[in-house]
Amino acid sequence: MLSLSCARSRALHASIKSRTVSSHSTGETRKGFWGSKQGYAVGGALGVSTAIGIWAWCKADKDRPLSIHSFSPVTILSSENTGSNTKLVRLKIPDRILPDISFPPPIWSVFVKDSDIQIERPFTPLEGASEDGALDLWVKKYSDSEMGRWIHSRPVGESVEIRGPHQTWAWKEDTWDRVVMIAGGTGVTPFHQLLHHVFSKGTKHSPVEFVLLHAYRSMDEIPPPAVMDNFSKWSKTNPNKLKISTFVEGETSGSYQDGKVTESAIREALATDDRSRTLVLICGPDRMINALVGPKTWDGSQGPVGGVLGKIPGKFEVWKL
Ligand SMILES: Cc1cc2nc3c(=O)[nH]c(=O)nc-3n(C[C@H](O)[C@H](O)[C@H](O)COP(=O)(O)OP(=O)(O)OC[C@H]3O[C@@H](n4cnc5c(N)ncnc54)[C@H](O)[C@@H]3O)c2cc1C
Repeated sequence: MLSLSCARSRALHASIKSRTVSSHSTGETRKGFWGSKQGYAVGGALGVSTAIGIWAWCKADKDRPLSIHSFSPVTILSSENTGSNTKLVRLKIPDRILPDISFPPPIWSVFVKDSDIQIERPFTPLEGASEDGALDLWVKKYSDSEMGRWIHSRPVGESVEIRGPHQTWAWKEDTWDRVVMIAGGTGVTPFHQLLHHVFSKGTKHSPVEFVLLHAYRSMDEIPPPAVMDNFSKWSKTNPNKLKISTFVEGETSGSYQDGKVTESAIREALATDDRSRTLVLICGPDRMINALVGPKTWDGSQGPVGGVLGKIPGKFEVWKL
Protein backbone atom coordinates (compact mmCIF):
# COMPACT_ATOMS: atom_id res chain seq x y z
CA MET A 1 0.00 0.00 0.00
CA LEU A 2 2.71 2.41 1.11
CA SER A 3 5.04 1.40 -1.69
CA LEU A 4 2.18 2.00 -4.13
CA SER A 5 1.81 5.44 -2.60
CA CYS A 6 5.55 6.00 -3.05
CA ALA A 7 5.21 5.00 -6.68
CA ARG A 8 2.24 7.33 -7.02
CA SER A 9 4.32 10.20 -5.55
CA ARG A 10 7.09 9.47 -8.01
CA ALA A 11 4.55 9.53 -10.86
CA LEU A 12 3.17 12.83 -9.55
CA HIS A 13 6.69 14.25 -9.48
CA ALA A 14 7.31 13.04 -13.00
CA SER A 15 4.11 14.69 -14.20
CA ILE A 16 4.98 17.99 -12.41
CA LYS A 17 8.42 17.80 -14.02
CA SER A 18 6.96 17.12 -17.45
CA ARG A 19 4.52 20.02 -17.06
CA THR A 20 7.44 22.29 -16.09
CA VAL A 21 9.39 21.17 -19.14
CA SER A 22 6.46 21.83 -21.49
CA SER A 23 5.81 25.31 -20.02
CA HIS A 24 9.48 26.14 -20.71
CA SER A 25 9.23 24.74 -24.20
CA THR A 26 6.38 27.11 -25.09
CA GLY A 27 8.93 29.91 -24.81
CA GLU A 28 6.77 31.80 -22.32
CA THR A 29 8.62 35.02 -21.40
CA ARG A 30 6.36 36.73 -18.81
CA LYS A 31 8.11 36.56 -15.41
CA GLY A 32 5.84 36.27 -12.34
CA PHE A 33 6.85 35.40 -8.78
CA TRP A 34 7.87 31.85 -9.81
CA GLY A 35 10.15 33.27 -12.47
CA SER A 36 11.85 35.61 -10.02
CA LYS A 37 14.93 34.76 -7.89
CA GLN A 38 12.71 34.51 -4.79
CA GLY A 39 10.37 32.20 -6.70
CA TYR A 40 13.24 29.88 -7.67
CA ALA A 41 14.46 29.87 -4.03
CA VAL A 42 11.00 29.03 -2.62
CA GLY A 43 10.40 26.45 -5.37
CA GLY A 44 13.79 24.86 -4.71
CA ALA A 45 13.13 24.68 -0.97
CA LEU A 46 9.70 23.15 -1.59
CA GLY A 47 11.22 20.61 -3.97
CA VAL A 48 13.93 19.62 -1.50
CA SER A 49 11.48 19.28 1.40
CA THR A 50 9.10 17.20 -0.77
CA ALA A 51 11.97 14.94 -1.80
CA ILE A 52 13.01 14.50 1.86
CA GLY A 53 9.40 13.73 2.79
CA ILE A 54 9.09 11.08 0.08
CA TRP A 55 12.44 9.54 1.05
CA ALA A 56 11.41 9.39 4.73
CA TRP A 57 8.03 7.90 3.78
CA CYS A 58 9.57 5.16 1.64
CA LYS A 59 12.25 4.50 4.29
CA ALA A 60 9.58 4.14 7.00
CA ASP A 61 7.93 1.49 4.83
CA LYS A 62 11.14 -0.54 4.52
CA ASP A 63 12.13 0.02 8.16
CA ARG A 64 8.81 -0.94 9.69
CA PRO A 65 9.48 -3.67 12.31
CA LEU A 66 8.35 -7.18 11.53
CA SER A 67 4.69 -7.38 12.47
CA ILE A 68 1.74 -9.72 12.16
CA HIS A 69 -0.21 -6.96 10.39
CA SER A 70 1.92 -6.47 7.27
CA PHE A 71 4.62 -8.23 5.27
CA SER A 72 8.30 -7.30 5.60
CA PRO A 73 11.16 -8.30 3.31
CA VAL A 74 13.75 -10.79 4.61
CA THR A 75 16.67 -12.40 2.77
CA ILE A 76 17.27 -16.10 2.10
CA LEU A 77 20.72 -16.71 3.62
CA SER A 78 20.90 -20.42 2.80
CA SER A 79 18.76 -23.24 1.46
CA GLU A 80 19.95 -26.85 1.81
CA ASN A 81 18.37 -30.13 0.80
CA THR A 82 17.76 -32.30 3.85
CA GLY A 83 15.97 -35.11 1.99
CA SER A 84 14.34 -35.54 -1.39
CA ASN A 85 11.38 -33.35 -0.39
CA THR A 86 12.60 -31.27 2.57
CA LYS A 87 14.84 -28.22 2.85
CA LEU A 88 16.41 -26.26 5.66
CA VAL A 89 15.93 -22.61 4.76
CA ARG A 90 17.61 -19.82 6.73
CA LEU A 91 15.99 -16.38 6.53
CA LYS A 92 17.62 -13.18 7.78
CA ILE A 93 15.65 -10.30 9.25
CA PRO A 94 17.37 -6.98 8.34
CA ASP A 95 19.52 -5.57 11.18
CA ARG A 96 17.84 -2.17 10.97
CA ILE A 97 14.49 -3.51 12.21
CA LEU A 98 15.76 -6.11 14.70
CA PRO A 99 15.92 -3.95 17.86
CA ASP A 100 12.25 -3.06 17.48
CA ILE A 101 10.98 -6.64 17.39
CA SER A 102 9.97 -8.64 20.43
CA PHE A 103 9.47 -12.37 19.98
CA PRO A 104 7.03 -14.23 22.24
CA PRO A 105 7.83 -17.44 24.13
CA PRO A 106 7.23 -20.66 22.17
CA ILE A 107 5.34 -21.70 20.19
CA TRP A 108 5.19 -19.21 17.32
CA SER A 109 5.40 -19.21 13.57
CA VAL A 110 5.76 -16.74 10.71
CA PHE A 111 3.66 -16.49 7.56
CA VAL A 112 5.67 -16.65 4.34
CA LYS A 113 4.14 -15.04 1.24
CA ASP A 114 4.29 -16.78 -2.12
CA SER A 115 4.49 -13.61 -4.21
CA ASP A 116 3.72 -15.46 -7.46
CA ILE A 117 0.12 -16.19 -6.56
CA GLN A 118 -0.27 -14.11 -3.37
CA ILE A 119 -0.88 -16.90 -0.85
CA GLU A 120 0.67 -17.35 2.58
CA ARG A 121 1.49 -20.36 4.78
CA PRO A 122 2.78 -20.51 8.37
CA PHE A 123 6.17 -22.05 9.21
CA THR A 124 7.73 -22.58 12.64
CA PRO A 125 11.32 -21.33 13.14
CA LEU A 126 13.23 -24.27 14.64
CA GLU A 127 15.06 -22.17 17.21
CA GLY A 128 12.83 -19.11 17.29
CA ALA A 129 14.86 -16.07 16.20
CA SER A 130 18.61 -15.91 16.79
CA GLU A 131 20.11 -12.73 18.23
CA ASP A 132 21.24 -11.64 14.79
CA GLY A 133 17.78 -12.19 13.31
CA ALA A 134 18.13 -15.58 11.61
CA LEU A 135 15.08 -17.84 11.31
CA ASP A 136 15.66 -21.51 10.40
CA LEU A 137 12.70 -23.14 8.70
CA TRP A 138 12.46 -26.85 7.91
CA VAL A 139 10.10 -26.93 4.96
CA LYS A 140 8.46 -29.92 3.33
CA LYS A 141 7.37 -29.92 -0.31
CA TYR A 142 4.24 -32.08 -0.69
CA SER A 143 3.41 -33.45 -4.13
CA ASP A 144 1.45 -30.78 -6.05
CA SER A 145 1.94 -28.37 -3.16
CA GLU A 146 2.15 -24.67 -3.91
CA MET A 147 4.11 -23.08 -1.06
CA GLY A 148 6.49 -26.03 -0.60
CA ARG A 149 7.35 -25.94 -4.32
CA TRP A 150 7.71 -22.14 -4.27
CA ILE A 151 10.03 -21.94 -1.22
CA HIS A 152 12.14 -24.87 -2.46
CA SER A 153 12.72 -23.05 -5.76
CA ARG A 154 13.84 -19.70 -4.25
CA PRO A 155 17.55 -18.97 -4.74
CA VAL A 156 19.92 -17.91 -1.95
CA GLY A 157 20.14 -14.11 -1.72
CA GLU A 158 16.56 -13.55 -2.85
CA SER A 159 14.22 -11.42 -0.79
CA VAL A 160 10.95 -12.98 0.42
CA GLU A 161 8.20 -11.45 2.51
CA ILE A 162 7.08 -12.67 5.91
CA ARG A 163 4.74 -11.47 8.63
CA GLY A 164 4.63 -12.50 12.28
CA PRO A 165 5.41 -13.66 14.88
CA HIS A 166 2.12 -15.49 15.30
CA GLN A 167 1.88 -17.36 18.62
CA THR A 168 0.06 -20.66 18.13
CA TRP A 169 0.33 -21.79 21.75
CA ALA A 170 1.87 -20.08 24.81
CA TRP A 171 4.47 -21.94 26.86
CA LYS A 172 4.28 -21.32 30.64
CA GLU A 173 6.92 -23.06 32.69
CA ASP A 174 4.97 -23.21 35.96
CA THR A 175 1.77 -24.76 34.61
CA TRP A 176 2.75 -28.38 33.86
CA ASP A 177 4.69 -31.18 35.53
CA ARG A 178 4.86 -33.27 32.39
CA VAL A 179 4.49 -32.40 28.70
CA VAL A 180 4.08 -35.23 26.18
CA MET A 181 4.71 -34.10 22.58
CA ILE A 182 3.55 -36.24 19.66
CA ALA A 183 4.77 -35.25 16.19
CA GLY A 184 4.58 -36.51 12.62
CA GLY A 185 6.97 -35.25 9.91
CA THR A 186 7.55 -31.48 9.90
CA GLY A 187 5.06 -31.36 12.79
CA VAL A 188 8.16 -31.74 14.96
CA THR A 189 9.22 -28.10 14.31
CA PRO A 190 7.12 -26.54 17.12
CA PHE A 191 8.51 -29.07 19.61
CA HIS A 192 12.09 -28.35 18.58
CA GLN A 193 11.36 -24.65 19.14
CA LEU A 194 9.93 -25.37 22.61
CA LEU A 195 12.76 -27.71 23.67
CA HIS A 196 15.37 -25.29 22.33
CA HIS A 197 13.82 -22.56 24.48
CA VAL A 198 13.85 -24.78 27.58
CA PHE A 199 17.20 -26.57 27.22
CA SER A 200 19.36 -24.14 25.21
CA LYS A 201 18.14 -20.68 26.03
CA GLY A 202 16.37 -21.00 29.37
CA THR A 203 17.13 -22.82 32.58
CA LYS A 204 18.96 -26.12 32.29
CA HIS A 205 17.04 -27.24 35.38
CA SER A 206 13.52 -27.20 34.05
CA PRO A 207 11.00 -28.46 36.62
CA VAL A 208 8.99 -29.98 33.76
CA GLU A 209 9.46 -33.51 32.40
CA PHE A 210 9.20 -33.75 28.63
CA VAL A 211 8.51 -36.78 26.46
CA LEU A 212 8.83 -36.50 22.67
CA LEU A 213 7.33 -39.23 20.46
CA HIS A 214 8.03 -38.36 16.83
CA ALA A 215 7.44 -40.36 13.65
CA TYR A 216 8.53 -40.29 9.98
CA ARG A 217 7.53 -42.22 6.88
CA SER A 218 11.14 -43.05 5.92
CA MET A 219 14.76 -42.21 6.72
CA ASP A 220 14.59 -39.73 3.83
CA GLU A 221 12.03 -37.72 5.83
CA ILE A 222 13.72 -37.53 9.23
CA PRO A 223 14.82 -34.06 10.41
CA PRO A 224 18.27 -32.73 9.46
CA PRO A 225 21.27 -33.44 11.73
CA ALA A 226 20.99 -29.93 13.23
CA VAL A 227 17.65 -31.01 14.75
CA MET A 228 18.42 -34.67 15.54
CA ASP A 229 21.76 -33.75 17.16
CA ASN A 230 20.04 -31.24 19.42
CA PHE A 231 17.45 -33.83 20.49
CA SER A 232 20.17 -36.31 21.32
CA LYS A 233 22.31 -33.70 23.15
CA TRP A 234 19.41 -32.38 25.25
CA SER A 235 18.18 -35.86 26.21
CA LYS A 236 21.70 -37.00 27.15
CA THR A 237 22.41 -33.94 29.28
CA ASN A 238 18.94 -33.99 30.88
CA PRO A 239 18.12 -37.71 31.17
CA ASN A 240 15.49 -37.18 33.86
CA LYS A 241 13.83 -34.28 32.09
CA LEU A 242 13.67 -35.32 28.44
CA LYS A 243 12.88 -38.72 26.94
CA ILE A 244 12.67 -39.17 23.18
CA SER A 245 11.41 -42.02 20.99
CA THR A 246 11.84 -41.80 17.21
CA PHE A 247 9.65 -43.95 14.94
CA VAL A 248 10.56 -44.51 11.29
CA GLU A 249 8.54 -46.82 9.05
CA GLY A 250 10.62 -49.82 7.99
CA GLU A 251 13.62 -48.87 10.14
CA THR A 252 14.94 -50.69 13.18
CA SER A 253 18.60 -49.69 13.13
CA GLY A 254 20.25 -47.57 15.81
CA SER A 255 17.85 -45.88 18.18
CA TYR A 256 14.89 -45.94 15.75
CA GLN A 257 11.69 -47.89 16.31
CA ASP A 258 9.84 -49.30 13.33
CA GLY A 259 6.42 -47.91 12.40
CA LYS A 260 4.18 -45.14 13.72
CA VAL A 261 3.80 -43.72 17.24
CA THR A 262 2.28 -46.64 19.17
CA GLU A 263 -0.49 -46.74 21.73
CA SER A 264 1.85 -48.44 24.19
CA ALA A 265 4.43 -45.63 23.83
CA ILE A 266 1.71 -43.07 24.54
CA ARG A 267 0.38 -45.04 27.53
CA GLU A 268 3.89 -45.30 28.93
CA ALA A 269 4.46 -41.55 28.47
CA LEU A 270 1.22 -40.84 30.33
CA ALA A 271 1.88 -43.28 33.18
CA THR A 272 2.41 -40.78 35.98
CA ASP A 273 0.87 -40.39 39.39
CA ASP A 274 -2.53 -38.75 39.39
CA ARG A 275 -1.30 -35.57 41.05
CA SER A 276 0.91 -34.53 38.15
CA ARG A 277 -0.40 -31.92 35.75
CA THR A 278 0.09 -33.54 32.35
CA LEU A 279 -0.36 -31.95 28.94
CA VAL A 280 -0.32 -33.74 25.59
CA LEU A 281 0.63 -31.58 22.58
CA ILE A 282 0.23 -33.02 19.10
CA CYS A 283 1.22 -31.71 15.66
CA GLY A 284 1.28 -33.54 12.35
CA PRO A 285 -0.75 -34.65 9.36
CA ASP A 286 -4.53 -34.80 9.76
CA ARG A 287 -4.65 -38.59 9.55
CA MET A 288 -2.26 -38.86 12.52
CA ILE A 289 -4.20 -36.31 14.59
CA ASN A 290 -7.48 -38.07 13.76
CA ALA A 291 -6.17 -41.50 14.72
CA LEU A 292 -4.45 -40.47 17.95
CA VAL A 293 -6.59 -37.68 19.45
CA GLY A 294 -9.57 -37.22 17.13
CA PRO A 295 -10.02 -34.42 14.58
CA LYS A 296 -10.28 -30.70 15.17
CA THR A 297 -13.70 -29.30 14.32
CA TRP A 298 -14.50 -27.81 10.89
CA ASP A 299 -13.80 -24.27 12.16
CA GLY A 300 -10.32 -25.22 13.42
CA SER A 301 -11.23 -25.38 17.12
CA GLN A 302 -10.03 -28.25 19.28
CA GLY A 303 -13.01 -30.63 19.25
CA PRO A 304 -13.36 -33.52 21.72
CA VAL A 305 -10.46 -35.83 22.55
CA GLY A 306 -11.01 -39.07 20.65
CA GLY A 307 -8.89 -41.70 18.94
CA VAL A 308 -6.26 -43.55 20.95
CA LEU A 309 -6.03 -40.90 23.69
CA GLY A 310 -9.80 -40.87 24.08
CA LYS A 311 -9.56 -44.47 25.32
CA ILE A 312 -6.75 -43.89 27.83
CA PRO A 313 -8.02 -43.21 31.35
CA GLY A 314 -6.26 -40.65 33.53
CA LYS A 315 -5.96 -36.97 34.17
CA PHE A 316 -4.34 -35.11 31.29
CA GLU A 317 -5.14 -32.27 28.92
CA VAL A 318 -4.70 -32.36 25.15
CA TRP A 319 -3.87 -29.50 22.79
CA LYS A 320 -3.94 -30.07 19.02
CA LEU A 321 -1.51 -27.58 17.41
C1 LIG B 1 1.05 -23.11 12.76
C2 LIG B 1 1.65 -23.93 11.62
C3 LIG B 1 3.02 -24.10 11.55
C4 LIG B 1 3.58 -24.84 10.47
N1 LIG B 1 4.94 -25.03 10.44
C5 LIG B 1 5.47 -25.74 9.39
C6 LIG B 1 6.89 -25.97 9.32
O1 LIG B 1 7.67 -25.56 10.18
N2 LIG B 1 7.35 -26.68 8.25
C7 LIG B 1 6.51 -27.16 7.25
O2 LIG B 1 6.99 -27.78 6.29
N3 LIG B 1 5.17 -26.95 7.32
C8 LIG B 1 4.64 -26.25 8.34
N4 LIG B 1 3.29 -26.04 8.38
C9 LIG B 1 2.46 -26.46 7.21
C10 LIG B 1 2.54 -25.36 6.13
O3 LIG B 1 2.03 -24.14 6.62
C11 LIG B 1 1.73 -25.70 4.87
O4 LIG B 1 0.43 -26.04 5.23
C12 LIG B 1 2.35 -26.82 4.09
O5 LIG B 1 3.66 -26.43 3.70
C13 LIG B 1 1.53 -27.14 2.85
O6 LIG B 1 1.34 -25.97 2.12
P1 LIG B 1 1.52 -25.99 0.54
O7 LIG B 1 1.04 -24.68 -0.02
O8 LIG B 1 2.91 -26.41 0.21
O9 LIG B 1 0.56 -27.18 0.12
P2 LIG B 1 -0.95 -27.05 -0.49
O10 LIG B 1 -0.83 -26.53 -1.89
O11 LIG B 1 -1.79 -26.27 0.47
O12 LIG B 1 -1.35 -28.57 -0.47
C14 LIG B 1 -0.88 -29.49 -1.49
C15 LIG B 1 -1.08 -30.92 -1.09
O13 LIG B 1 -0.34 -31.22 0.11
C16 LIG B 1 -1.21 -31.79 1.08
N5 LIG B 1 -0.80 -31.30 2.39
C17 LIG B 1 -0.74 -30.01 2.77
N6 LIG B 1 -0.32 -29.93 4.05
C18 LIG B 1 -0.12 -31.20 4.47
C19 LIG B 1 0.31 -31.77 5.70
N7 LIG B 1 0.64 -31.01 6.76
N8 LIG B 1 0.40 -33.13 5.77
C20 LIG B 1 0.09 -33.91 4.71
N9 LIG B 1 -0.32 -33.42 3.52
C21 LIG B 1 -0.43 -32.09 3.41
C22 LIG B 1 -2.56 -31.29 0.74
O14 LIG B 1 -3.57 -32.16 1.18
C23 LIG B 1 -2.50 -31.25 -0.78
O15 LIG B 1 -2.78 -32.51 -1.34
C24 LIG B 1 2.73 -25.37 9.46
C25 LIG B 1 1.34 -25.19 9.55
C26 LIG B 1 0.81 -24.50 10.61
C27 LIG B 1 -0.70 -24.33 10.69
